[in-house]
Amino acid sequence: MKRLVLATRNAGKIAELRAILEAADLGVELVGADAYPDVPDVKETGVTFAENALLKAHALAKATGLPAVADDSGLCVDVLGGAPGIFSARWSGTHGDDRANLDLLLAQLSDIADDHRGAHFACAAALALPDGTERVVEGRLEGTLRYAPSGSGGFGYDPILQPLGDSRTCAELTPAEKNAISHRGKAFRGLVPVVRELLG
Ligand code: IMP
Repeated sequence: MKRLVLATRNAGKIAELRAILEAADLGVELVGADAYPDVPDVKETGVTFAENALLKAHALAKATGLPAVADDSGLCVDVLGGAPGIFSARWSGTHGDDRANLDLLLAQLSDIADDHRGAHFACAAALALPDGTERVVEGRLEGTLRYAPSGSGGFGYDPILQPLGDSRTCAELTPAEKNAISHRGKAFRGLVPVVRELLG
């Protein structure tokens, strides 16, 4: 079996991509980057999701000698010209403070009416080989932003993004419902033909 390594320590992300690869029956075994503790951390110096995903995938492929996948994602708000975008995890100034990030965004948009509250989650998934070959696939989840958070599931901006065609926020969906429509789910599923092409 061929081995593919995913640049994350997040067990949920590993399980999601592993299930997609197993369903596609590609004969590929997915392992998380925590199986390679000596891999150095990568500075996300890119200015797009795709650039950051590629930086992480190339660094991991180089360090492990294996084909590597990395993803980068965030929330893009129409009226903010696509921000927070690559700054989603640190919009309030503190990296990873989901509640502060979400509160600041809601305050910034408090006077913006329903018609202009469009936003989407975006994800770029990159596959890199040790020889430098690279591919990127992108996925989106389109929706509108609520005026106040709702729901206790998910993470990040899930409590304020309501997917188009649904009356619930992402934080009110089950994990399976979210994976079925999510930006990351779409990008990961888009990797299947790429894995087949490069590793099959
Ligand atoms: P990462 O690239 O997966 O680390 O995501 C960066 C940031 O984007 C997270 O810290 C969240 O603030 C936001 N984000 C990405 N994906 C999601 C999602 O599915 N739901 C909510 N927030 C997300």
